[in-house]
Amino acid sequence: MSVITVIPGDGIGPEVIEQAMLTLDRLQLGLEFDVLDHVNADTFLRTGVALCDEDFERVRSSRSVLLGAIGDPRVGSPAYGRGVLLRLRFELDLYVNHRPAKLLHDRLSPLRADSARAVDCIVIRENTEGLYTGAGGSVHPGSEHEIALDVDLSTYHGTARIVEYAFSIARREVCMVDKANAVEFGGGLWQRCWRAAAARHPDKASRHLYVDAAAMQMVTDPTGFDVIVTNNSYGDILSDIASAVAGGIGTAASANLNPERGFGLYEPVHGSAPDIAGKDIANPVGAILSAGLLIGDLGHHEAAAALRAAISQAVAAGETTPDLGGSLDTRGAGEAIRARL
Ligand code: ATP
Ligand code: MG
Repeated sequence: MSVITVIPGDGIGPEVIEQAMLTLDRLQLGLEFDVLDHVNADTFLRTGVALCDEDFERVRSSRSVLLGAIGDPRVGSPAYGRGVLLRLRFELDLYVNHRPAKLLHDRLSPLRADSARAVDCIVIRENTEGLYTGAGGSVHPGSEHEIALDVDLSTYHGTARIVEYAFSIARREVCMVDKANAVEFGGGLWQRCWRAAAARHPDKASRHLYVDAAAMQMVTDPTGFDVIVTNNSYGDILSDIASAVAGGIGTAASANLNPERGFGLYEPVHGSAPDIAGKDIANPVGAILSAGLLIGDLGHHEAAAALRAAISQAVAAGETTPDLGGSLDTRGAGEAIRARL
């Protein structure tokens, strides 16, 4: 029996996670849920603690976490998001951010050219280094002489393991994306690690793009991509472009992984979407697809494929929430998927 820790979180998080849990139940895989429904902004505002040590231990002891969204406009400080998401990411060393982008239906593509529509790629973003470690500082803060510095950190260890992961999961090709023509030191390290990984995987093709060219190609011809691997900040941006060309933020799933430890935290790419929270129009597809990634990693490959097929069919039939042109509410869209399982 696999225990899945569930953190519904804030805003539309609980709404879409409920649909993901109901859908997993329908698959009858014998999964058990440990729901931490008190890990949210209300608790943070009341106690000042986002994720207490006891909850952190519950998460650490399970192999799989399903998360809705963390974020609330009432919380001004970055301490909340850092306390939950970044704590999990850094302390559990979830160094892989794995984001598939596959067009569910032609109708959802914002791209005009037919040739650009069949997007089916995976963006692998380094999740623990780069610009987002908080390293840096400011001289003369608040004055007209302020100098602000954020360190863009790449280690050999961190870079080597993320490019190796990319080659290990690629079907046919890895495209490494950097800005080595302008960012000299990190660029050099990424180039070295990428070439070494490519040499270890002669069965996989390998190419390189600068991030500006990669962003353009993602829009003009995303069909050429299989696996893209890049650093934390370029991955942040490219994976959002990929989810947009693949049908929109409500449909995109992601996994934060430590492959060596067999640990994964799965979450929809969208956030808490406070503008639509409580309106019962949130699209549950991103959350349900994230649950699909989770069960796939637990070895339930057939069930994961069935889930994907059910989602494609429901979307093709127009049985969706308004963001995809349908008229169903969140539960109705979840039911439309479950009815096809
Ligand atoms: P956060 O700070 O938690 O990320 P946000 O204000 O950035 O919140 P997002 O959740 O990132 O909001 O979403 C951006 C926009 O996309 C929202 O305005 C929302 O209307 C739309 N959106 C996001 N997720 C969904 C969804 N599941 N279904 C429908 N619309 C969505
Ligand atoms: Mg957001």
